[in-house]
Amino acid sequence: MTAHTPPPPAMGCRNAPVLKERGQHEVFCGLTGIIWLHRKMQDAFFLVVGSRTCAHLLQSAAGVMIFAEPRFGTAILEEGDLAGLADAQEELEREVDRLLARRSDIRQLFLVGSCPSEVIKLDLSRAAERLSAKYAPRVRVLNYSGSGIETTFTEGEDACLAAMVPALPASDERQLMMVGALPDVAEDQALDLLAQIGIDKVSVLPARNADTEVSVGPNTSFALTQAFLGGTHAALERRGARHIPAPFPFGEEGTTAWLRAVARDFGIDQARVDAVIDAPRARARKAVAKAAETLSGKSLFFFPDSQMEIPLARFLTRECGMRAVEVGAPYIHKTLVGPDLELLAEGPVISEGQDVEMQLDRCRAAQPDLTVCGLGLANPLEAEGLCTKWAIELVFTPVHFYEQAGDLASLFARPLRRHDLLKLEAAE
Ligand code: SF4
Repeated sequence: MTAHTPPPPAMGCRNAPVLKERGQHEVFCGLTGIIWLHRKMQDAFFLVVGSRTCAHLLQSAAGVMIFAEPRFGTAILEEGDLAGLADAQEELEREVDRLLARRSDIRQLFLVGSCPSEVIKLDLSRAAERLSAKYAPRVRVLNYSGSGIETTFTEGEDACLAAMVPALPASDERQLMMVGALPDVAEDQALDLLAQIGIDKVSVLPARNADTEVSVGPNTSFALTQAFLGGTHAALERRGARHIPAPFPFGEEGTTAWLRAVARDFGIDQARVDAVIDAPRARARKAVAKAAETLSGKSLFFFPDSQMEIPLARFLTRECGMRAVEVGAPYIHKTLVGPDLELLAEGPVISEGQDVEMQLDRCRAAQPDLTVCGLGLANPLEAEGLCTKWAIELVFTPVHFYEQAGDLASLFARPLRRHDLLKLEAAE
């Protein structure tokens, strides 16, 4: 059990060799992001322009979570559209007219592209522009792609936020933008800590509703809360904003480093920050130490899935005492995850991309105590006797910042405890 995190490693993984694989990969598509984005942006509607498969994916992934009038739907491309027999563009615009006539609560409408809409080259940006002009200022219409062609599921959020950036009003004000769609409880805690530290002007992208002012300009510094926002990072830099590099706010160490980096950028001295964070840090350490009793000494293998793998590996090895065998990520964007790689001690294979069969062979050879992977791989690996954790749960659950640090560690401890119990029962 590690009550305190160790000092930074002499040799981190920032310059470690990366095993690059470009083969078959097993991940969900970017449409999945709608499931958490629609809960975050309360006056937005996501209209997927796709096939019945896309509608089915959304319904089955979100089915259990719909408890009010849904804020997403699918404009189904029929065979005639796909064969170029009908004017899908006109039909889409009619569909939007019908939707907006029915739903006066919608203030932001996202036209979400899919594999079929990309294959038939439906121009969603032209549709969004035309519809935006027609419905301004009541509704802003934007578009992005959630297609699963060569992408991973968290890229849907990245594409959505990146699409919002060019439409943000310009501002010269000195301000912080916190970027990433977090559950409200985690977001509120972060805003509270930032206010106590002395950063008064903070906005969040995405905001909870369209009326909340979020502006950007050369005096905006932005801090990412999710490791998969490479496109949004580039879009914000194009608007003149400056990125604050920092480890991601997972666990006590990540949260402390993230807050200190933000405070440094705003010229606030560390003593003031430390006075604010002392008590929540101690609570986080205590909560993590409890879950670490199960995790400490156990080996860990990450398949590439959520793009959160590197910051999570840093948390699980440094704060929970686990040993990483392989840390696979769909893409390694060093500008974003460099500070986490620096803290991750040399040793694990760092892999980017996927050749699923080869990676499965490495995983079977390593026989890790815990394998973090997507839904598609979890069941077969469990059947082979390995203990798995689904990465997708991490984007639905509040896991960021101090008060969630214990829950984050518990999410990984739970499958290990269940696995041990099952083994015990089988032995009796
Ligand atoms: S966008 Fe592509 S991968 Fe995703 S559900 Fe639709 S067809 Fe499938």
